[in-house]
Amino acid sequence: MLNEILFKYNNLIHMLYVQCQEIEKCFAEHILCKPGCHQCCLVEKSVLPIEAFIIEQQLQSFSKERIKKLLANHRADDSICPMLWKNRCAVYPARPISCRIIGLPILYCEAEISFVDYCHLNFTRLPANHRFKKNLILDLRQINSELARLDLEFNDNILQKKWRPNQRILLKDILNKQKPDRRSKGNRNKDSRNLSQL
Ligand code: SF4
Repeated sequence: MLNEILFKYNNLIHMLYVQCQEIEKCFAEHILCKPGCHQCCLVEKSVLPIEAFIIEQQLQSFSKERIKKLLANHRADDSICPMLWKNRCAVYPARPISCRIIGLPILYCEAEISFVDYCHLNFTRLPANHRFKKNLILDLRQINSELARLDLEFNDNILQKKWRPNQRILLKDILNKQKPDRRSKGNRNKDSRNLSQL
């Protein structure tokens, strides 16, 4: 069952990846996102239980020393994402969906209002009132509802009430659970084979 849910999650990630690639191809000269730029990571993040589980699996494949370094790094500056290490994402293959879309034009719908936003380090050569074509805007409604549905399935079948469906879990809490004294023996490497490498 777990493999089946993770397989569906990976399909969702792949679908998103294809959409992002199409948009990035069209705006190649306007998107400056590159390895080492971590402007999107200077925040505290939270994720749904299914993504918390996937990140946890990745962390469990790390050595104690690596975990200690991440914890010390986070203690030194707790205003940034606890998974940020030397300007790179320490859990890159397991990073949540919200980290896979950053920088691109995204459609936000709040109450009656919808608007497009993107990283303002990108698109600097476009006029401020530029209107993006509909097919070049990332509309996350379908992705988010599929993620919420998978999270429910995950909670019903796997977690047995450890977390509540749709509960947001802080990444720092996921990291803190890996403190060497709290880490359960024999957990390391479990299911890390299922993580998307996209
Ligand atoms: S999980 Fe990784 S990509 Fe996402 S904010 Fe944290 S360091 Fe950045």
